[in-house]
Amino acid sequence: MLNLILFGPPGSGKGTQAAFLVEKYQLLHISTGDLFRYEMGNNTPLGQLAKSYINKGQLVPDSVTIGMLKNKVDANPGVKGIIFDGFPRTVAQAGALDSLLDDMGSCVSVLIALDVSDEEITQRILLRGQTSGRADDNDPTIIRNRIDVYKNETTPVFDYYAQSGKSLKINGVGSIEAIFGRLCEAINKL
Ligand code: ADP
Repeated sequence: MLNLILFGPPGSGKGTQAAFLVEKYQLLHISTGDLFRYEMGNNTPLGQLAKSYINKGQLVPDSVTIGMLKNKVDANPGVKGIIFDGFPRTVAQAGALDSLLDDMGSCVSVLIALDVSDEEITQRILLRGQTSGRADDNDPTIIRNRIDVYKNETTPVFDYYAQSGKSLKINGVGSIEAIFGRLCEAINKL
């Protein structure tokens, strides 16, 4: 399996690039943010719980997020590989992902981080907020909080996979096509 973690701060373009990558490499795309928004849209108990964290720019608790991720992986046996978008966001989630893939006789192939400055992502998220309808995209204080959470809780995941030589960083600024080209180049070298 080709199991790719698409990594980077909020607004760095993970979702945009994942859509192109699934097409090219025939992978399953799992975005925990999209899964939460689906639950929120249907006002399920999981959605209501997630909303109370997401709308403050906080992470949804690991136990909840890991359980949801596992269900999605288990529901799609026999896939060629998976793009994990927005997961893992904590070292505990990374450990859970490793053991889940290990149980399937597989592992994480690579983590690719999209490198984009704080100023650029703040501008991108505010722009997205004009049309996304996402409460967490419209408030500069919540955006700041998401960036802080990323720095404190999520960047350790990059270091975690760097220990086994699996973490890569690419320039996340430029046209969508240019960034996609950089991603493909990195993946084709694996
Ligand atoms: P972005 O990358 O723009 O922040 P996402 O759609 O990936 O957007 O995530 C939106 C929100 O959903 C996050 O700010 C967080 O509250 C929650 N979320 C998504 N994935 C996770 C995760 N792996 N662990 C905890 N919370 C998550």
